[in-house]
Amino acid sequence: MRTDLMRADLHVHSSASDGTDPPAEVMRRAAQAGLDVVALTDHDTVAGHAEAGAVAGPLYPSLALLPGMELSGRLDGRSLHMLAYLFDADRPELSAELTRIRDDRVLRARAMVDKLAGLGVHVSWEQVAAIAGQAVVGRPHIARAMADSGAIASPREAFTHDWIADGGRAYVGRYALDPVRAIGLVRAAGGVTVLAHPRAGRDTRVTDEQITRLAAVGLAGLEVFHPDQSGAERARLLALAHDLDLVATGGSDDHGSLTGYRLGGETTSAGAYQDLLSRVPRLA
Ligand SMILES: [Zn+2]
Ligand SMILES: [Zn+2]
Repeated sequence: MRTDLMRADLHVHSSASDGTDPPAEVMRRAAQAGLDVVALTDHDTVAGHAEAGAVAGPLYPSLALLPGMELSGRLDGRSLHMLAYLFDADRPELSAELTRIRDDRVLRARAMVDKLAGLGVHVSWEQVAAIAGQAVVGRPHIARAMADSGAIASPREAFTHDWIADGGRAYVGRYALDPVRAIGLVRAAGGVTVLAHPRAGRDTRVTDEQITRLAAVGLAGLEVFHPDQSGAERARLLALAHDLDLVATGGSDDHGSLTGYRLGGETTSAGAYQDLLSRVPRLA
């Protein structure tokens, strides 16, 4: 691989979480987009890695799969996302945490179904689970069940204050990881953590001061190049990454048809990629 020409998209979802395409199809699209490296970063799960690994490499020799995931956390009462790479998901502490996050998603979805029943909307847990299939269950699946039952005209209408939007009548909050703990767990499992899209949206804006705090406890990088971050935000984040000695990464956050196919639309430079790999801790 000529590293000077390398193209790496370090933020991609499959149907193992809320993307629309199975992992194998995501790898096919990554190869077609001419990528040298693609990171599969499904929410809170590594369930897509085996299928992706059987395709990237064996079928597409020029494509390397970087195993990863995207973790949801909460800092000072606000949610944020973290990308983790190259960790060993079987390490007991990390694996217990992932189980806890997934169990909570099920408990939470069931609690929302119960609240909906109290509001006269009769969707069953079985219906929601069937819609989710192999994917990690979430609000989009409840929204589809609500539309199927005729309670609302389209899934989008579920995301209002009347129903399951944040703070809505049938909303139930979720367990969220403390980012400091997440960084520690990933490091202890031999991986590195990058703060995802710190300035992408109103709900997930992470301040300079918060980023400085996370850098002090072992954060390895900042996702600078993301479709939802403006040129001005990128410039600010790039300067911050430089000041704090964090790797400036990029990724498309492709979710298949859900986001419009955009795999490879944002990338990480060859130098930044090598820098990220050099920060992988050596485990005793
Ligand atoms: Zn995210
Ligand atoms: Zn994402």
